Amino acid sequence: MDISRHWRLRKQRYALEGEICPHCGARLFPPRDVCPHCGLEAKTTYTFVGTGVVVSWTRVRQAPAHFEEQTPYVVALVQLDEGPMLTAQLTDLGNVQPYAGMKVEMVTRKLRNDKGDRGLIVYGYKFRPVLERAVA
Ligand SMILES: [Zn+2]
Repeated sequence: MDISRHWRLRKQRYALEGEICPHCGARLFPPRDVCPHCGLEAKTTYTFVGTGVVVSWTRVRQAPAHFEEQTPYVVALVQLDEGPMLTAQLTDLGNVQPYAGMKVEMVTRKLRNDKGDRGLIVYGYKFRPVLERAVA
């Protein structure tokens, strides 16, 4: 992937920027400019809070190119609190086993190394468990 493409995608990656439909209020991620709910134009920027719950997850042991050094890692289907679903890597799990319904929040982390002339390191969003507050 070239530098200009990274640049264009940076907001989507660093801040979970999507869109909100001005006609029906649906929040869209990734941004697609046309609302899948009502079919009308939706180009209004909306930044997601970055919290959600794990819907399902899987542990990846054989990674695709550029992800080898991170194996094994967990990829989850996350439903954002505003509604949209996305897949993302889970991080900071420690000894915690992921489960459906686990509350997670977005963090920006190293996504992968592009091993090449530039040695480009790509950062993007991952999700980590939201620490449960201790009961007083
Ligand atoms: Zn709509």
